[in-house]
Amino acid sequence: MNLGGKLLKGIFSIISNIDPGDFIPSDPPEPRRPLNFAETHESEEEKGFRQVFQQLAGDDLEISPEELKGILDRVIRRNPQLKLSDGGFCIETCRSMVAVMDSDCTGRLGFHEFKYLWNNIKKWQGIFMQYDRDRSGCISNRELSGALGEAGFHVDKCKELMSLITRRYTDQDGNMDFDNYVACLVRLDSMCRAFKTMDNDKDGNIDLDIGEWLQLTMYS
Ligand code: CA
Ligand code: CA
Repeated sequence: MNLGGKLLKGIFSIISNIDPGDFIPSDPPEPRRPLNFAETHESEEEKGFRQVFQQLAGDDLEISPEELKGILDRVIRRNPQLKLSDGGFCIETCRSMVAVMDSDCTGRLGFHEFKYLWNNIKKWQGIFMQYDRDRSGCISNRELSGALGEAGFHVDKCKELMSLITRRYTDQDGNMDFDNYVACLVRLDSMCRAFKTMDNDKDGNIDLDIGEWLQLTMYS
């Protein structure tokens, strides 16, 4: 085995003791209905959301990563309890969020894709503020397992995965700002959802060829 193979095998063997039941992604998006059916059967809340979406998305009725950053930055500025280390969302986080939500591969988010992401971000914002007990604007090491578990991901049961996440998404003092919290959850959620979708016989294993593996990992 070459060095790369050895390294990968090392990573997989240390985090292979995971129980899929400890990782509960959000429900998959509703199946798409024909546009005029969807529009005539919308609740008042959905109608309101559609109007806001149309204003945010502009003429193309899709939200690009740059537009998403503008929207999220405005939300953050209105909430003094959320702190971002660079004063706004990182464009890479926004590109990643668009990639994992872009189920029709247009490179931008349509109404249903955006609504799904938005509902998750709203939910995660509430959890973030609840678990940031000392109101530092960041989730500290001590607060992290609760803040991920409440979102459906009991990462604390796998020490190795927890330290991978800490290494990737926290700063040198072990603090996770809201940008990184969302980036971490978007990825955890979409990867667990993809796994569940592909694990047809529910045996906790999936079988991917190189093409499927690259498609999953390169556009995320
Ligand atoms: Ca799209
Ligand atoms: Ca905190």
